[in-house]
Amino acid sequence: MCGIVGFYGPTTDRATEKLNLLLAKLQNRGPQGAGVVTYDHDGQIHELRGTGSVEAVFDGRNKLDNLPGYMGVGQVRYATFGYTIQPITWIQRGKQAALAHNGEFANAITLRKEAEEMWEYKFQSTSDTEVLIPYLMHSSKDTFRDALLDVLQNKIKGAYSMIILYDGKLYCVRDPHGFRPLALGISENASIVASESSAIEVLGGQYIGDVNPAQLIVIGPSGIIETVEWAEPKPKSCIFEHVYFANPDSYVGGINVSLARDFMGKLMFEEAGWIDADVIVPVLDSGLHAALGFYEATLRYAFQERKNPIPLKAGVHRSWFIGRSFQEGEQIAREILQRIKSNVIAAWVKDKRVIVIDDSLVRGTVMRIIVELMRIAGAREVHVIIPSPPPIAPCAYGIDTYEDELIAARLNGNVHEIQQFIGADSLRYLSLDALYQAVTESASPPVRTTANFCDACYTGQYPVPFEQDRSTKPRRQNMGTQA
Ligand code: SF4
Ligand code: MG
Repeated sequence: MCGIVGFYGPTTDRATEKLNLLLAKLQNRGPQGAGVVTYDHDGQIHELRGTGSVEAVFDGRNKLDNLPGYMGVGQVRYATFGYTIQPITWIQRGKQAALAHNGEFANAITLRKEAEEMWEYKFQSTSDTEVLIPYLMHSSKDTFRDALLDVLQNKIKGAYSMIILYDGKLYCVRDPHGFRPLALGISENASIVASESSAIEVLGGQYIGDVNPAQLIVIGPSGIIETVEWAEPKPKSCIFEHVYFANPDSYVGGINVSLARDFMGKLMFEEAGWIDADVIVPVLDSGLHAALGFYEATLRYAFQERKNPIPLKAGVHRSWFIGRSFQEGEQIAREILQRIKSNVIAAWVKDKRVIVIDDSLVRGTVMRIIVELMRIAGAREVHVIIPSPPPIAPCAYGIDTYEDELIAARLNGNVHEIQQFIGADSLRYLSLDALYQAVTESASPPVRTTANFCDACYTGQYPVPFEQDRSTKPRRQNMGTQA
């Protein structure tokens, strides 16, 4: 997964400071690398990239001073093997260009081969994103705008939210399905583009809406200077953003993420029913919002049925200095990090029947450790609640998962076997119907239909065919994706 940002502040020379803050807010989308490219009044670009957190990459005042410019683009990303930190830069008709991409081109393997054969193009990286560049460079169209539209309409398939910096403008685009989000905002006389609306708020800006699926929005000195609907939109925005990826304080596609997660928790109680337990423990921090919804539903039920309410306690301590373990590259590192990251507080769980709530169960390794730590801490029973369905298929649209690492895929969706794998006394998931209800009814107004979402990782039904083999996680990826 990645987060991408763009900033255009015609009266500033410190766009890099804003890009730094935007990226810091989107660290949840990619904690392992960050990069920015800025563009100054002389038409020169300036670049900074590095592995590690945004803080580490931007460390030191002089790094910011070396990146003058009134506009720029940036990216945070999580590592796949052999990955490239964006933005990617190239020379387009004698001018420097930079590109930040969130998603995955579904036909990158074919396009790469074709570009190598047709133009003997030498790729600089293994990234799927780079395949866009030879097609832009060799376009017969007169303007960059027309070249871009031509390539989008006729070549590139799959998932992409992109921000391209070229010749004093920002080109912001989403694929016709709009798999990955892209929000727009304004702050005084500056324009902001970011994967999530909450990043815009960090700059004191106002979220004004999204780049829509199949839309190109061009930003210049006066703000939005052109909007192009370049294809028939077929919205399929990622429903997993609402479950796990997006910041809870963001709006994604007009839906407040915290509200949707809270609702998932409430519906989870409706589906699971009352569980005899002594304490409810959320797995911080992505499990918190659904846990609050679940807890509220149990309270209401307890009141109606004159039962003792089950308290909600912070029985899993979250260390804030460790990144999101789901995104770590290596299994061993992930498990060790998880033990540092989430420690169980015995005082809340000893001799208790515990309900543990997390947002999702992807590999199952995190929950397995938490259940084990609960037992070590003296919990009598551990009941696991997951207010989302089991992912049974890999994502081909920007979240780098493989079939063999998904616990529900490996165990053929057998909930009892998954429960045994994580070592819990019981395990309950939310139904896909309830997930849809939570998401669509949290929209304001609740107008979107379930047909507007991608749910391929829950159903195996992919809106766009893809080329890359996603059955087994490669030790070394031939084509690193710019998820
Ligand atoms: Fe999102 Fe799942 Fe679709 Fe990937 S497959 S875009 S994670 S809903
Ligand atoms: Mg989590």
